[in-house]
Formats: sequence, structure tokens, C-alpha cells
Amino acid sequence: MKNFNRNTEQWKQLDRSHQIHPFTDPAQLNAKGTRVIIKAEGSYIWDSEGNKILDAMAGLWCVNVGYGRSELIEAGNRQMKELPYYNSFFQTSNPPQIELGRLLSEVTPEGFDHFFYSSSGSEANDTVVRLVRHYWEVQGKPTKKVIISRHNAYHGSTLAATSLGGMKYMHDMGGSLLPGFEHINQPHWYLEGGDLSEEEFGLSRARELEEKILELGAENVAAFVAEPIQGAGGVIVPPDNYWPEIQRICTAYDILLAVDEVICGFGRTGKWFGSETMGIRPDLMTLAKGLSSGYLPISAVALHQRVVGVLMEGGEINHGYTYSGHPVASAVAIANINFIRDHGLVEMVNELTGPYLQEGFRQLAERHRLIGEVRGRGLICAIQLVKDKEQKILFSKDEDVGNRCRNHCFDNNLIMRAVDQSMVMSPPLTISISEIDELLEKAERCLDLTARDLGLS
Ligand SMILES: *Cc1c(COP(=O)(O)O)cnc(C)c1O
Repeated sequence: MKNFNRNTEQWKQLDRSHQIHPFTDPAQLNAKGTRVIIKAEGSYIWDSEGNKILDAMAGLWCVNVGYGRSELIEAGNRQMKELPYYNSFFQTSNPPQIELGRLLSEVTPEGFDHFFYSSSGSEANDTVVRLVRHYWEVQGKPTKKVIISRHNAYHGSTLAATSLGGMKYMHDMGGSLLPGFEHINQPHWYLEGGDLSEEEFGLSRARELEEKILELGAENVAAFVAEPIQGAGGVIVPPDNYWPEIQRICTAYDILLAVDEVICGFGRTGKWFGSETMGIRPDLMTLAKGLSSGYLPISAVALHQRVVGVLMEGGEINHGYTYSGHPVASAVAIANINFIRDHGLVEMVNELTGPYLQEGFRQLAERHRLIGEVRGRGLICAIQLVKDKEQKILFSKDEDVGNRCRNHCFDNNLIMRAVDQSMVMSPPLTISISEIDELLEKAERCLDLTARDLGLS
């Protein structure tokens, strides 16, 4: 039985009539009409016109176990019947959230045993902001309030998460930048490295944190927040010496280090967490997306023992959400983590599919004039489009190269996302070798079409 019995045109019309979409120009979308996705299985989604589309974005970087997994579906179904909802405010708890905490303490790095739940990455980052400031108040250092992050970082879309993030166009809408947030430059060597070697550049970008702390006074700085590898910013993998230097600076100035693992967590980079791939020892970690593979909304802040010890001394925590520790979402997250474990997905990404995808795009880059650089680890990857590879000349805004390529992907039943002049992808961790071959083949075809459009073939 189909859930809703309408045709594509009717859906498009109703969507125009009743919905305003996130991160979308409503007038532009209405002129064209939305694409209606009606079902999914494994690495593929289907639209209402019957097109089968390879989803190389895993939804929005989140469907780590792929679509249609009965283990997750049944876990949700069972829990829905048993206890669909109860809160965690009234000194109450429920079995799924308790079990989820136990499981998370097993898969997260040493020292992370406590978790604070919410429903989205944005809310979890709001929780990070509130808890790190509270942490310093409890320590008798209430002036430590400022949070430093990076330009072009994405940490979510609530007011606090928007401010924490470094997306200027988001700050500009409605004056959304709250006080108490500062930003330093991102470690994007290919685009911003100039004449510096990768090492020199990595060190200089990390040292910007030190300069910012000295400018603000360490007594006013609460935390540095960053993704191990910036996802939505364009899959920016920092130089090898960047993170060790950041770690040194945080320790030297007594600043908490909060790592946003919303994309990198749960196997994406070939280890359970991006912090492990990049050799980071965080104080807090934000978890969402891959925590439930997007089957239901759930997120968490993982708190290191160092932080928990202080919170224990601080009295009541005046923060929380109606859906903190939601039993059904927790049950699905448990099934998701068990699926990742039972199928050895993290090892598979690390040893097989990750290297195969990265190597495939590196080989394509060697023979394709449009690819200036391939960035990534495991199953997160970006290809940087350039007009002239040797001279490293980018396209002009008017040439709109990213969106052009994205549209060709759409027309060729491949979902890849454009971030400015990069094409980014993060396929399900269950993607097979033959599906990666299909991805590479389609990507090459779409790059050829893009080059032809721009008179470059
Ligand atoms: C998606 C994302 C968020 C926000 O998560 P939502 O669930 O959309 O609120 C936060 N941080 C990073 C790194 C993300 O990619």
C-alpha cells in the first residue's frame, strides 16, 4: 500500500502552496518545482517519476548504514509500542536511553562515559555552548565565556549554532551573530595556502588560535570548537600538523576543546570518530547524523570525565529538551550502532571502500582537466573544480561551475552536492565496490558535460 496517492504534479503544487524549504530560495524553487523522493533502499533513492538515483550524499551526510535496514525499522517499531515517549526531567529515565549510553561509552574514545541527549546537531551544539560556559562558572572562572570557532564552519542553524558556525551569509540574515563568538581562518591549504608549504600553512592557521586567545585574554575564552574535517565547508582536511598544534594551544591556555563529530562520527572517516583519525583528544564531542543514520532525529554531547567531574560539583543543570533521551530515537540509535559493529562497517571503510573511493577519484583527477585537488578520508570526499589545473585558476562566479555540475549529476541520477567550486560526497558506509565504480563513472560523465558547457573540452 502506498502512503499517499498523488502524482508528481499534484505534489509539486501542494509543496508550493504549503511549504517554505530550508536553505532554499522559495521563489526560485516554486518556479521549477521540487523533486519528490518517495522511497529508498541501500545506496539508492527513487523519485516520484520512477528514477533510481545513486545517493552519494547519504541523505545529508547521515544515512551511514544505508536505507531500508529492517534492524533499525523493527527496533523503532517495537519501542513505539512499548513506550513511545517519556521525559528525562522528572528524575526519570527509560531503558533505551540507558542502554544507548552504555553502548556509546564502548564505541567512543577512552574517557567518554557520559552523554547529554537532544534531537539535532544544532541543539547539541547549543548544549555544548551552555555546558562549557557553565563548566567555567563552576570552576570559579565566570569570565571565561567566549567561544572561538572558524570562518566557513558549519555547526547548525539555531541562533547559537549559527553564531558558533562561520557562515557569513547565515550571520547576515537577520543579524544572527550573537555576542561571545569569535572566528579564525580555516585550514584550507589548496585555496588559501598561497606560497606556504602545507606544513608552514598548517602551523600558521593553528597559531591563529593562539593569537586570538592572546588578543581576547585567556581568562575570557571558554572553548575552541571545530570539526576534525570540515564537511559542509567543502570537506577541508587540515595539514597533519594542524590538530597537534591546536591541541597544544588549548592545553597551554586552559581552553576546552569541543569537537563537532556530527559528520565525521560513526565511521565516516574510517575510524569510529574523526578525532581518532586526526589524533585529537577532545573534552566534548557533538554527535548527531550518523548516530541514528538519520532514521529518527537524535543527537548527543559526549562529555569527557574531566568535564563530568566538574559538572558533578555544579548543582542543577538548567538546560534540556522535551525529547532529550527520546526512547524510540534511542532504540533506533542502538540498532544503528549494533548494525555498524556487526557488519564491520568501520573496518570496511578504513581498509576497503574508503581507500578505493579516494584512489578512484585521485586517478580520475590525473586524467581530468577540471579536477585540481581531491580531499578526503574514508568515505568523505571532495573534488575541487578548477578552470586551469597547472596555474591553479578558479572559475568566475558567473560560470557557476559547482551548480552546473550538480545539475548534470541530478540529470544523470547521481546525488553529489556542490559547495562553491567543489563537489562533495559522503555515501552510505555500506556502499559496495561496484556502486563506487558506478559513482566514479557517473561523476566522470558529469564532469565531462560540465567541461563541455564551459567550452573546455
Ligand atoms: C549537520 C551539522 C550540524 C547540525 O545538525 P542538525 O541536525 O541539522 O541541527 C552540526 N554540525 C555539523 C558538523 C553538521 O554537519
